[in-house]
Amino acid sequence: MKPDTVAVHAGRSVRARDPLSPPIVQAAVQVYESLEDYDLVAAGEIPGHYYGRASNETTALFESAVAALEGGAAGVATSSGMAAILVAILGLCPEPAPVLIPLDVYGTTLGLLRQDLGPLGYTPRIVDLEDEGALRAALAGAGLLICETVTNPLCRVPDIDRLAALTAEAGVALLVDNTFATPILCRPLEHGAAAVVHSATKYLGGHSDLVAGVVVAGEATAAAARARSNRLGTTLGPFDAWLALRGLRTLALRIRRQNANADALAAALPGLPGVTAVYRAAGERVQRLLPEGSGGMLAFELDGGRQEVQRLLDRLRLVRFAASLGGVETTVSHPVLTSHRGLSEDERRSLGITEGTVRVSTGIEDPEDIAADFAQALAG
Ligand code: PLP
Repeated sequence: MKPDTVAVHAGRSVRARDPLSPPIVQAAVQVYESLEDYDLVAAGEIPGHYYGRASNETTALFESAVAALEGGAAGVATSSGMAAILVAILGLCPEPAPVLIPLDVYGTTLGLLRQDLGPLGYTPRIVDLEDEGALRAALAGAGLLICETVTNPLCRVPDIDRLAALTAEAGVALLVDNTFATPILCRPLEHGAAAVVHSATKYLGGHSDLVAGVVVAGEATAAAARARSNRLGTTLGPFDAWLALRGLRTLALRIRRQNANADALAAALPGLPGVTAVYRAAGERVQRLLPEGSGGMLAFELDGGRQEVQRLLDRLRLVRFAASLGGVETTVSHPVLTSHRGLSEDERRSLGITEGTVRVSTGIEDPEDIAADFAQALAG
């Protein structure tokens, strides 16, 4: 089946008299009559659920739907995207080892390694994914390489085919954060990633009404991530899982529209006053890895820095400023204050993120209304 169909049906087969939409099993625990039965379920030898921190019927639907979309064996839903990244790292890399990471990943991912996991032995090694020589050297003795399919905010696309080959050669696991591309546009497991993570808060949920994450991987890694999530208590609750699944059912429609809207806005922005650069993923690599488009993300550079960004926010009527993305509404964000606030000014400068960088997440509105709002807000 094609991804658009998988998104609508995956995870569930509806029989006669079943409700067409899945029930929310808002329960912390299940009852058992037989100790043996409980033992088999708790050991994972037969399917079932026994305690809500370990698993839940509704959450399992969301997990299996995302796993089907990503082409992985199993999924583990978590209380946030950060929790997904944490349990994926621990699942892929049970013993502490250096973790390779580019400086332009989501700032809190870097913060997790620098401030929380680094002191435990998961030392971050900052790598330039375009410098193959340096990358080969850094891979020696490392446990894991983390990258994103499309980077925030400058929309760079690393060559995950090449990274998968290099990591495989070095015996290092590759973890891809596929939040921005979604499995509609790219399925990193098919390109050789060992596991994929999402902030389901963004496109998978798609309505800015929940915080959630998910890890998808092969059986063994998913089981290891689930065991970690159970012990760490990073489980996603059933109601948020239900909302995430409800959002996921329209993912293909939304992401295709958001991609088209981002293309249209990227074409309209260069002529507008004060816009000195537009960032939108493009080129041979994008055509190979994201043949149907790079999603709803773009950024632009506004002459005049923070003051002009504030003026833009004051004048936008439809588009709002918000520190998240991927919802049905078009939003803008200021990476210096949001996604990359944990970086030093020098680090941000080395990436090309300035006080004038504005990141846009296009929604599903009419493209002409989005472009018109930016045009009137930026008019002199
Ligand atoms: N990964 C990416 C690419 C993100 O943009 C974010 C959040 O903005 C996260 C992970 C973290 O997700 P969450 O906020 O759901 O914990």
